[in-house]
Amino acid sequence: MTQTESPAAGRGNSTDHVRRHNLATVLTLVHRSQGISRSQLTRVTGLNRSTVAALVGELVERRLVLEVDADVQGQVGRPSPIVKPDPLAVAIAINPEIDAITIAVVGLGGTVLKRIRYATDHEPTAREAVNICAAVIEGLRGELEASHRVVGIGVAVPGLVRSLDGVVRLAPHLGWVDEPLAGMLAEATGYPVVAGNDARLGTLAESTFGAGRDLSDFIYLNGGASGIGGGLIAGNQALTGSAGYAGEFGHTLVNSMGTVCHCGGVGCLETEVTRAPLLALAGLTDADADELENALVASESADVRAEVHRQLDFLAVALRNAINTLNPQTILLGGFLGSLYAVAPAHLNALVAHQPLRASREGVSIGRAALGSNLLMIGAAELAFESVLDDPASF
Ligand SMILES: [Zn+2]
Repeated sequence: MTQTESPAAGRGNSTDHVRRHNLATVLTLVHRSQGISRSQLTRVTGLNRSTVAALVGELVERRLVLEVDADVQGQVGRPSPIVKPDPLAVAIAINPEIDAITIAVVGLGGTVLKRIRYATDHEPTAREAVNICAAVIEGLRGELEASHRVVGIGVAVPGLVRSLDGVVRLAPHLGWVDEPLAGMLAEATGYPVVAGNDARLGTLAESTFGAGRDLSDFIYLNGGASGIGGGLIAGNQALTGSAGYAGEFGHTLVNSMGTVCHCGGVGCLETEVTRAPLLALAGLTDADADELENALVASESADVRAEVHRQLDFLAVALRNAINTLNPQTILLGGFLGSLYAVAPAHLNALVAHQPLRASREGVSIGRAALGSNLLMIGAAELAFESVLDDPASF
């Protein structure tokens, strides 16, 4: 890469538009890398050194990035400063589920600073969910406004969300239909709100910060309290389908003798592979993903093992279909699907090593989503950060 700037980057007379575009490029690189040296920024953007220094300076003034001295050990000459996301520029992330509402404060760079799980004794209505979120956020407001700056709120919804206005068209397990969730939350909190499908946001988070960071083709499958969602990255692009609803692996047929699903089908993956019996066998009534996993892995009960194997057998059917159809490098499992795999990895590996077509299964690996129980919080925050990453000068 040369030190000459592209014509679009302009020189001393760069227009406001070009400067804003370059600010967005630099901030996005800093956010995704979670820390990058100024010399690397110069190399990657193709901008000259003084331009990068000025852009970083403006982002520091806007309190979106920090510059810290590089570790000087083993370096010859003056080391290039490291530019890091300012963790005090935050988004509030929300994930409503059938048994709890989780709310987190997430710093730029995808760092979860605080996470609160508010357990509910029934599926919350959209209005109840908004009221709970508003109360929790009100409790945090003093602390947030004293030392942080809130970009906005991102919501990961277990259902179909219209991206245009954040209306939840259908969240079947919550019983929500056409709920203007983003609008209600914005009104209740005063912050801008963006909402999206939970599994799509999980895929985005894993692709940006997690186990999918270096993968061009992967399938992500998440098991949550209200079913199984998924997403896929194909050729480094999120594959969304014509209306954004691609990746509904939870409704692929795995058992033609199975249970009737709310979607109208029979024996869907999400009717045969479910969290509730795992909780019951582990003797838990209410647990987050980490607690359930610890209990399952520690269990020596034959009933737990049998149920885990039964569920993995059905999961393998869905994976066979997905591998034959989509030819991924890797399958990433999140939520309780990752926990099922943690209990009996050899069982699932053996099924995936034999069931798909030989050519398709060659080289396919199964992995855990890397972001653990923070995954949806990071994904939801990514939604809220989009506007500031697109135009840092507006913030
Ligand atoms: Zn179904």
